[in-house]
Amino acid sequence: MCLLCHQTLTNEIMKPSRLKNHFDVKHSDKKDMPLSYCLQLSFSFKKKIQTFKTLLQETSKQENDRLIVSYNIALLVAKSGNSHTIGEILLCPFIKEVLSTIMHKKTDCIMKKIPLGNNKISRRIN
Ligand SMILES: [Zn+2]
Repeated sequence: MCLLCHQTLTNEIMKPSRLKNHFDVKHSDKKDMPLSYCLQLSFSFKKKIQTFKTLLQETSKQENDRLIVSYNIALLVAKSGNSHTIGEILLCPFIKEVLSTIMHKKTDCIMKKIPLGNNKISRRIN
């Protein structure tokens, strides 16, 4: 990928003569730029990729945490010997109360991420 125009280039263009041609045709205005300019572009691009990778890893970690919480709660329900409906009837209101009163967090966003419905708990227990 050309760092100047963000165009994805084919393998054929990776030959030095073709790269020079691409540069001369599309980026002739950058001909007098110092090498540090290109190095800065490269550094900035690598930093953006790293940020994107970090964002993906964070999203993946949150997804894993969501599943772990759901399975752990299903395990607790199973160990308690209560009906799996306790997830919706008791645990959801209980968790909402703790989050809003003690931790001062908005509950809607968090509760959507923790599946505690009857069917989910039942499937996890099974
Ligand atoms: Zn280019």
